[in-house]
This record gives sequence, structure tokens and C-alpha cells, in this order.
Amino acid sequence: MKYQKLVDVYEALAATTKRLEKTSILAEFFKKVDIDTLPKVVLMALGTVFPPWSEEEQGIADKLLMKAIADVVGVSVRDVEDQVREQGDIGGAAEKLYKAKSQTTFFSQTLDIDFVFSTLRKLAKISGNRSISRKIARVLELLSSASATEAKYISRTIIEELRIGVGEGIIRDAISQAFNVEKSVADRAHMLTNDLGLVAKVAKEEGEEGLKKLNLSPGKSVKPMLAQLSEGIGISIEEMGEAICETKYDGIRVQIHKKGDKINLFTRRLENISKAIPEMIDYIKKAFPDEDFIAEGEIIATKNNKPISFQYMLQRVRRKYNIEKAIEDVPIRLYLFDLLYFKEPMIDEPLAIRRKTLEDIVDTSIDQINLSEMIKATPENIQDAVNLFNESIANGHEGIMIKNPKEPYIPGIREKKMLKFKAEPETLDVVVVGGTYGVGKRVNFIGSYKVALQEEDNQLKTVAHVATGLDDDTLAELTELMNKYKIVEKGTKIEVEPRIILEIAYSEIVKSPEYGAGYSLRFPVVKRIREDKGLADIDTVERLKSMFKG
Ligand code: AMP
Repeated sequence: MKYQKLVDVYEALAATTKRLEKTSILAEFFKKVDIDTLPKVVLMALGTVFPPWSEEEQGIADKLLMKAIADVVGVSVRDVEDQVREQGDIGGAAEKLYKAKSQTTFFSQTLDIDFVFSTLRKLAKISGNRSISRKIARVLELLSSASATEAKYISRTIIEELRIGVGEGIIRDAISQAFNVEKSVADRAHMLTNDLGLVAKVAKEEGEEGLKKLNLSPGKSVKPMLAQLSEGIGISIEEMGEAICETKYDGIRVQIHKKGDKINLFTRRLENISKAIPEMIDYIKKAFPDEDFIAEGEIIATKNNKPISFQYMLQRVRRKYNIEKAIEDVPIRLYLFDLLYFKEPMIDEPLAIRRKTLEDIVDTSIDQINLSEMIKATPENIQDAVNLFNESIANGHEGIMIKNPKEPYIPGIREKKMLKFKAEPETLDVVVVGGTYGVGKRVNFIGSYKVALQEEDNQLKTVAHVATGLDDDTLAELTELMNKYKIVEKGTKIEVEPRIILEIAYSEIVKSPEYGAGYSLRFPVVKRIREDKGLADIDTVERLKSMFKG
């Protein structure tokens, strides 16, 4: 099938904001695509060519893509940059430049979907000697055969930002509409496999019956079950009747998958971080039996066996070079707390059984592998839970988790099955939407950050300008990120794509008509950059309202 057909669908999707319309457009298209191309189209509708658990990435920096576009249309990189500023993104800029140019050199071949897909995938495989120029050659091959709109979407697929307002929810609904399967059945299949391409294929070939047979599979990450806030240790335990209370470690959550000989580690955003922390793979190999499994835990960075700031853990995960040195400088430890699969899926078992199995199979004589500290609590021994909390804080951890031992594991939900109780007053996770350059010695840095919360229909509402809590290194890092995601710059102010998540503390919530949220924060302070969180994880205006004391 021609790539132009998919591009027409992208354009139709971008032209409407109505969810139902988008769903129907996609459903009609899914029906027409043949079975082998369908999973590819599903991924491409999400703006990527790799499934969420894949380690692979195309690895083309924005600058390189702009250079390729400049080469194909015969303008300078500067011209492309100017267009990007004007259009707001590289894809839009490519389209504009293609249209402005006479087309004689283009269209050497017609692009089809499979070819575009496989060429983009091949980019990830190119490494080593002259890899950049070899990658560019591939990109040029695609771009020089592309029409203006094709170039727009190829560019956007390379940077994994399609801008057509389609997320996983719409794709799921479209699959259910196209192949006449219950939404709840498609949802569950997606939740368990985290593979919408597969869900679409099975829905088309085998319908609901086929979807019902899909299950967890080690190697494919699933969305983690998330925690709600506890209103108080006593109240939560009384509500649950009985509870498993565990230390809440302040590191990064990992999902550990073993399939055959291969162990993979995924973050809560399902990024594969196995390569960054190879020593942990070795520890895990030693501590677990040689069976397929999926387990969850928190990895923390330590110094002299004491937990240190979560930022060190992020540094470890981000590190691409000199990993040996990082292993030495920042030792890490794993605290396991759940088991989703052991020889077979276990998520439908109650937590008490999953935990017990974990205890039975893990060899904790390896120093870096531990089970989370835990106690069983009932309304009669709430003091034990309070003691665990105090001990956890004294040992440098964040607080405690309060979990219902009778509950199954439900991927992707945030419900009362699992609660968190932290020491500090609650912070807010917000997204940066703009910034202002500083004055004096901070003139080269963006010193103040305009941040926003989300509203139900994914709209962003501004809530504060935050300018404190940032040391010079963090400022430099943030300024670089801001420039990377810049949409427009006017004088000292810039606007950016909503990509950077900050966790902020503050002294009080106040009403304020100056901000989109209708409220603002007094004395906001940046606590940290939350690279482990995405736009979907930021706090809501609704939560802010519920926290407002009036
Ligand atoms: P938050 O990131 O504030 O939503 O808190 C929930 C997170 O706490 C989880 O996603 C885990 O990363 C982390 N965590 C730390 N210790 C535990 C534990 N014992 N059980 C579950 N989650 C934990």
C-alpha cells in the first residue's frame, strides 16, 4: 500500500479534534490494510516504528534531520531552522520547503508503507563506523522520493512526534470498531501485551476469541500499576482491614523481564534501560532461578550503603558511555516488591501470594538484591506501620507504601489497591511550557520556568513561574533542554513543547486569575527534573483544586 494513503489518513486525523471522528477515520483505514502491514500501520499511527518495549531507536538528532532536509531541497540549514521556528516543527518546515521548491528532482520512486517502515527501522541497526553518514544516506533516500506531505510525516516519524492528536486510547477504540470486538476485550489485550500492533492483527484474524487468549509475556513490558495518595497511615489500614506496608524507596521503578537467557529492565515509562546498568543484570541472574519471570522493584543509588539522591540514579540510567566508571562511582541496589509472572502469569493472584512466591524464589544473599522491607498491618497494630514509616525515613527513604494483600495486579491503573504515604508535604508534577532568560550572571540561562498542569481533556493550564531550587548545573541542563524543545522565542521569553516534567514544592495554593488553572502556587521551588515521568503523569488541575484550602 502506498505511503501516501497513510499520509492522507494523517492529514484527515490532524484536521479534526473530535475523538469519534478520529476513531472512525482510523477504523476505516485499518479495515483496508492487509494483515502484514496492519501492525506496522498501528505503530506508525502512534508516530513510531518500534513497539514500546523495544531497545531500538532511530537515533537521528533534530540537527541531522534538518541537514538532510536542507540537502534534498537545496537550501541552507539556516533556512530550515528559520522555517522550523516559523512552522513550529521540523515536519511542518519540511512540507513548506518542499512546496516552495520546484519538484523536478523529487519523486524518483513511489514510497510504500512497508518500505518507509523498514527503512526507518533499519536506521536503528546502523552503528559503528561512519554510522551518522550511513544513517543520513538512508534518510536522504526516503526524503528524496517523498512528496511535500510525505516529507512532513517522515520527518515527524523520525522525531517520533506526529502531531495528529492520536494516542493509544483512540487506536484501541479504532481496532474495536474496525474488527467488531468489545472495547473492554481490546483494552485488556492491550494492557497485557502492550502491543497494539499485535492486538490489531489478532482482532482482525481471530476476533474476540483470539484476543482473550493473549496474555502477559516476559520480554514485553506492561504498564505498571500506580499508587494513590494515602490520607494517613491509620485511616488507610482501617479502610483496607489488613495491609502490607513496605518501605517506599526513592529511586526508579523497574520491571524486570527474563525470557530464556535474556534479562531486560524497563522503567515506568517502559524504556529499556538494560544497557545502562549491566551489573544489575548480573546480580539478578544470580539471585533468581533460571525460569522466565516478570518482577518489579525499585533501584536506588547508594553511597557507603546509604541511599543517595534519586538524581544519581537518573544519571546512571542516562549514561551511554564510560559505564564501567559509573558502576564504580555510583553503586546501585534493587528492592523487589512484586512478581507478575513466574513460569506463568501471576497478576490475577492476590498480592499476598505474589509476594510470598517472590520471597520463596529470590536468593537475597546477594548484597545488591533485596526484598522491600515489609510488615503485615491490621487496625490492631497500626503502631507497627508507624514504626516502619519512622524507620524508613530515618534510613533515608521516602515513606511507606500501603497495599491491599487481597488485590490482583492490574496494569496501568491508579486505584486504592496501592497507596503511598510520604514524609514531605505533597509536591506537584508539572510540565514546563515556557521560560524567561535570567539577568546578571544568569543572562545565558533560562532562569524562570512557566509551568502547567493538565485538565481532563489533555489541555494544559498554566499554574506558576518557578525560578528557585535550581543550581547552576541544573540550570545549564534545563536551558539546553529548553532550546531543544523550543517552539518560538521572543526577546527573553521562549515557549517550548510540553516535554520537561518538574516536581515542585510550594508553601501554599492561592487563587489567581492570571494563570490558566485559576490558581497559583506561592514560593514554588523545583525539587527535581522528573525524567522518569511523561506528560500523561503530570498532576491535574482537579487535584490542585481538591488540595486548595480556601
Ligand atoms: P510516586 O512516584 O510518587 O507516584 O510513587 C509511587 C512509586 O513509588 C512507584 O511507582 C515506585 O516507583 C515507588 N516505590 C518505592 N518503593 C516501593 C514499594 N515498596 N512498592 C511499590 N512502589 C514503590
